[in-house]
Amino acid sequence: MKNIFFLSIAIAFIFTGCKSNMQNNEEQQSTKEPLEEVAEMISPEALSDLLHEISSDKYQGRMTGEEGQKLAADFIVDFFTENTIPAGNNGEFFQAIPASNFNNQYNDSENILAFIEGTEKPEEVIVVSAHYDHVGMDDEGNIMNGADDDGSGTVAVMQLAKAFKKAKEEGLGPKRSLLFLLVTAEEIGLLGSKFYTENPVYPLEQTVANLNLDMIGRIDKEYETKENQNYLYLIGADRISQEFHDISLAQNDKYSDLYLDFKYNAEDEPMNLYYRSDHYNFAKNGIPSIFFFSGLHDDYHQPTDTADKIEYDLLAKRAQLIFHIAWEVANKEERLIIDTQEE
Ligand SMILES: [Zn+2]
Repeated sequence: MKNIFFLSIAIAFIFTGCKSNMQNNEEQQSTKEPLEEVAEMISPEALSDLLHEISSDKYQGRMTGEEGQKLAADFIVDFFTENTIPAGNNGEFFQAIPASNFNNQYNDSENILAFIEGTEKPEEVIVVSAHYDHVGMDDEGNIMNGADDDGSGTVAVMQLAKAFKKAKEEGLGPKRSLLFLLVTAEEIGLLGSKFYTENPVYPLEQTVANLNLDMIGRIDKEYETKENQNYLYLIGADRISQEFHDISLAQNDKYSDLYLDFKYNAEDEPMNLYYRSDHYNFAKNGIPSIFFFSGLHDDYHQPTDTADKIEYDLLAKRAQLIFHIAWEVANKEERLIIDTQEE
């Protein structure tokens, strides 16, 4: 009797459990926001196709000012053109940077700018950035393919631009404008982003935020052994705007459910990563900035940083979260609240 009683409770639980699961699934399908469908365009397959290309030997490690980097720049511009994503520098995709900005130790190079104009506050701009340069070849002629650094961020920015264009076509905003900025010369001292912030195409006072993607395609040593590998490091989020930090958490809860790790955001963090990617050139101008990062690995700045080692499902999840954060910042009623002025 007792056993049967428990068994019937157990069966009842199984049935009600199944039922509510089915209901949930149906609800999820029927209530999926159009915005989520747009975000899912940033797919593992699309990212993989682009990344296999841009980190291939053809581009010779994308060294600033070298032939391989010029080919990579052309590949990126062709992608924007094919997808009818408008140019961001007064009708041009390129922002030329003379070699004098590199102490004449490297050849002339260029940033790449694509732009989606906002529907209500077009003069306010959110910059989504990654560096498309890398470190070229080593002394023995081995090509540094830079798939994670920063092919991963580069192809994510390309797909983000495509997704925002689709969102706009579907009448989903953005209210503010988005600048998709692929910078050069990061590896030789953050010089492409420095040049942009010293020669901004859109005034820095009207630049609402910077979301910078640099190495977001791998699982680092720390997470290799962890059960939950769905993580992403966020650096800088709360240093200028607590609201930017809070939006990141809220959008993650709503859409992505990644583990957001703020380890590298600590002020006393010995690696000082806050100062080591392109977002810092925006942050030092008081612009709320986040550096999205998945950590270091043994292939960092080695010929072995190749496309086959990228976690494409995870790269897509991370890029989709960045889409949702950027979307919220672009569409919310008021621009981000600034709490502290850096430096
Ligand atoms: Zn690097």
